[in-house]
Amino acid sequence: MINSTIPNSPAPAQEQTFTPTKRLPPKQMRYRRKLLIERYGYQCFWCGCDLAPETLTIDHLIPLSKGGSNKLNNLRTACKGCNNKRGDAMPELVTGEKHD
Ligand SMILES: [Zn+2]
Repeated sequence: MINSTIPNSPAPAQEQTFTPTKRLPPKQMRYRRKLLIERYGYQCFWCGCDLAPETLTIDHLIPLSKGGSNKLNNLRTACKGCNNKRGDAMPELVTGEKHD
């Protein structure tokens, strides 16, 4: 008698439940970054400072943690300072763009 039965329990399937918006894969982020630069240039949306490719970051108007999306209209170019400063704060100066 060999006491090595295969447990009759299939690996738990990872259920695809609804999850909050996640960060985009780098490839998609790069593509959006390119579009944002075309739209806003190398300039911080918040403070207007000049940015370089190394200092340009992508900021979410509505943070992902607050239900924001990865759509372009929720993304802005930002310097690291502004991006860090904002953190998860909700935007107080959303200019012209409504969100619900
Ligand atoms: Zn800035």
